[in-house]
Amino acid sequence: MKVKKFSKKPENFKERSGTKPIICYPNNNLEDGNLKILQNARKFLKKIDEITIPPRDAKTFNVKSGNFFRIESVEGPQVGDLNLFQANNFDEKFYSGKTRALYGTHISVGDKMFSSFPYLRSLATITWDTLDWYDYDEDGGSVHDVIGTRCDPYTSKLISGTDYHYCCHSNLIRALVKEKGMKINDAEKIVHDVLNVFMLTGFTNDSKQYFMKSSPARPGDYLEFFAETDLLGVLSACPGGDCGSEHSSDVAKCYPLKVTIWDVDKKYLDGVNFSKISNYTKNHGLD
Ligand SMILES: [Zn+2]
Repeated sequence: MKVKKFSKKPENFKERSGTKPIICYPNNNLEDGNLKILQNARKFLKKIDEITIPPRDAKTFNVKSGNFFRIESVEGPQVGDLNLFQANNFDEKFYSGKTRALYGTHISVGDKMFSSFPYLRSLATITWDTLDWYDYDEDGGSVHDVIGTRCDPYTSKLISGTDYHYCCHSNLIRALVKEKGMKINDAEKIVHDVLNVFMLTGFTNDSKQYFMKSSPARPGDYLEFFAETDLLGVLSACPGGDCGSEHSSDVAKCYPLKVTIWDVDKKYLDGVNFSKISNYTKNHGLD
């Protein structure tokens, strides 16, 4: 935190500061015309599967390229921590940090969930968000962030000294071990920074610390995605519940989450540009 200034302000501080912000990664070129087609296609969706994620636990789900999926609030406000992998290559997984660099702290309709290097392509595009009315509040808070990482037992131990086994990090690992037959160490290596679905978060104005508030999600709310390649998703119902008090404990009231998978007649996807793996040469200046 930048609250204490130990160094002396130089006499020429004015010429060193006060310049205007420049957007690091202009994202206009990411617009591919898909959204209009997808928002028409979503009127013709047919539900083909649904998975319920129990509180303080996680489940895996598969989505075929060209299908849609929704993460739905049921029974009560509940935050979900989402991991996404390319279904045939778990090395290609959601890259929260680069998605944040491209779109900002929170993502919504039209934003793409980019994959890790050396792939860097859209795994999924958000096509509907029943909470986009929330916008940014007076504290700079908003919903569905890519700034939090996921609650985990290591940070919990660091801060509170206790062992807690039902943080999102552990829930995601358990789901991969139980449902995909992975070894615990292999699963732990691929679990990654999440999309915090339904979580209301921001950075405080003064210290710029990560904060959370009670989620505005209510039963019936959902976030909808279009899969641009075959996906394995893993979703944890966070032990923080609506994340209005605390996480990494059994204190908060928690609810299940539902994932639904939707098919659509391919004729409605005519003209959609499916994302492609980066064609960067990968020689990194060594040739
Ligand atoms: Zn969590």
